[in-house]
Amino acid sequence: MEVRACSGCRRLFNYLAGEVLCPECKKKQETKFQEVRNYIDEHENVTMKQVSEDCEVTMSQIENWIREERLHVEDEENAYFYCENCGKTVHSGRYCSMCKRQLLNELGDALGMNKVQKRKKRKKDTPRMRFIRR
Ligand SMILES: [Zn+2]
Ligand SMILES: [Zn+2]
Repeated sequence: MEVRACSGCRRLFNYLAGEVLCPECKKKQETKFQEVRNYIDEHENVTMKQVSEDCEVTMSQIENWIREERLHVEDEENAYFYCENCGKTVHSGRYCSMCKRQLLNELGDALGMNKVQKRKKRKKDTPRMRFIRR
């Protein structure tokens, strides 16, 4: 175990993994996340800047949540995230839906869970004809 200073309150704590936040700050952050999510639910077409100002969270924090796909920004102009593969604007995550699908096809086999999901889906959605036809 490693002792590090919390990036939120600067207190020393036993660091395990992920963000450098003590359990207390993590809890606070979770509360904040709920607040932000409620705020977005209540306010349609809200911009990231507005969320940051009204909920008193930093833009980088919102950015983290979007990267983690916990938040979704609808506003095209204010969604300044770009697909890491093709550069198209994305609302959440690191890749656009097309690249995500492509990457899943390419890398999905490396992840056991995806494999199971993919197989299930294929059975259900894809007609058998497709494999036979040229
Ligand atoms: Zn802390
Ligand atoms: Zn893309």
